[in-house]
Amino acid sequence: MTVRFVVIGGGPAGNTAATHAARLGARVTLIERDIVGGAAHLWDCIPSKTMIATGGAISFARRLGEMGLETVTAEVDPAGLKDRVDGIVSRLNTSITGLLESQRVRMIRGTASFVGPNEAEVTTVDGTEVIPFDAALISTGSRPRIPPFAGPDGDRVLTTRDCYPPKVIPEHAVIIGSGVTGVEFVHMFASLGSKVTLIVSRQQVLPAKDPEVAAALEVNFLERGVALLKGARANAIERTEDEVTVTCDDGRVVRASHAVLAIGSVPNIEDLNVEAAGVELDGGGYVTINHHCQSSVPHIYAAGDVSGKLPLSSVAAIQGRKVAEHAMGLHTVEHRHLDYDKAASAIFTEPEIADVGLAEAEAFALGRKIRVTKVPFSVAPKALINNDARGFVKIVSDPMTGVVLGGSIVGRHAAELISVIALAVTAGLRVNDIVESLLVHPSLSEALAEAAE
Ligand SMILES: Cc1cc2nc3c(=O)[nH]c(=O)nc-3n(C[C@H](O)[C@H](O)[C@H](O)COP(=O)(O)OP(=O)(O)OC[C@H]3O[C@@H](n4cnc5c(N)ncnc54)[C@H](O)[C@@H]3O)c2cc1C
Repeated sequence: MTVRFVVIGGGPAGNTAATHAARLGARVTLIERDIVGGAAHLWDCIPSKTMIATGGAISFARRLGEMGLETVTAEVDPAGLKDRVDGIVSRLNTSITGLLESQRVRMIRGTASFVGPNEAEVTTVDGTEVIPFDAALISTGSRPRIPPFAGPDGDRVLTTRDCYPPKVIPEHAVIIGSGVTGVEFVHMFASLGSKVTLIVSRQQVLPAKDPEVAAALEVNFLERGVALLKGARANAIERTEDEVTVTCDDGRVVRASHAVLAIGSVPNIEDLNVEAAGVELDGGGYVTINHHCQSSVPHIYAAGDVSGKLPLSSVAAIQGRKVAEHAMGLHTVEHRHLDYDKAASAIFTEPEIADVGLAEAEAFALGRKIRVTKVPFSVAPKALINNDARGFVKIVSDPMTGVVLGGSIVGRHAAELISVIALAVTAGLRVNDIVESLLVHPSLSEALAEAAE
């Protein structure tokens, strides 16, 4: 019997699941109300990294004098930036749509909801259609969290969705929230020439990260003139014609041209009528899932941000793949469960930051014996050749077996280099496996081999 598989939401989780299930023989319907590629392509990963790459090019241009070249000045062209973002999003959209079509996935542009445990309804500009299914995936993603004191207006009080790209480059941006999204905003706006103030609710930016890693970023921010307001929580935003005033709970006040909210996200669940299907949610409105991404209704899965696991595009996509395999009955044979603790992640700041697996501070908190080895990038000739020897590589391993448990990288191309440590963590490799790999010379990866010694 052909499995009828309905996917609601076409972001990384949904489009990966749809393509993979179709390849495995399912009859797949993908329902998406905006674009396939999802928020990840429309507002989040792709626009943000495109803008950050442009900001990086400006920083690079400023340092060309150190590489024996005449210094050039790069002026920001907001219209050109928008065209670049739109062009990349459109190319990716064409390629994903083509892939889905090639697998004969039926794509419907509309908003879906459940009418029962085996039926979804989709509302399109042409009316409604009921779609029966044997298996379904909820991959509706999330949206920015709006605190009760802030009314974003898309003009001066902005969410992430108004910023990539921004309509104008703010003269002075006050960023509220110092997690991954917040610090990436700081970096982007500072690179594009804005004055930036960051409100940090704790005493460290990136409170969930290794303190040494966070400190390296703070040093860079301070060098670039970013004002850090530590230990403060914003609790009011007032806007006038051409200014915003942000007040913090400790009485401090910041006046700026724009305020940017970067304080997390909430799941897109309200429109889905999950009660009709019997799908249970947790207290935050996320779908409760097991290690196969099954909800409380076993043939209805959830993947991506709405599943309340790690809000990363990479995680969403691999969850989508696992869901497709499970829905097609493949997990009755041997397979590897997803281990969210082994997900690599990166922060696209300057210096770039990436980590995977067990962190040093986490190991100490657990009272676990570890071996930590760390080398600065300056040990790698390539870092000097690149004119950027900032940062370090840190590897956490088991002192008895040498098995690599985790690592952090701060520095240029950290997001690419972390793949080596991520592979080692997932495959259970030992530090010696990295040391004895025949790596390229000169390359930044030589710092990884040194750190693994
Ligand atoms: C500013 C920012 C930058 C980020 N950068 C990165 C990064 O560099 N790397 C990374 O790994 N992660 C990044 N993330 C996180 C990443 O964007 C998310 O984890 C990822 O988008 C989640 O994918 P998803 O498939 O769950 O959902 P989404 O990408 O959110 O897609 C969900 C889709 O479902 C659709 N939908 C919702 N409800 C319905 C409905 N009822 N009917 C039909 N369609 C519906 C929506 O229109 C949307 O297109 C970033 C996040 C932000 C906010």
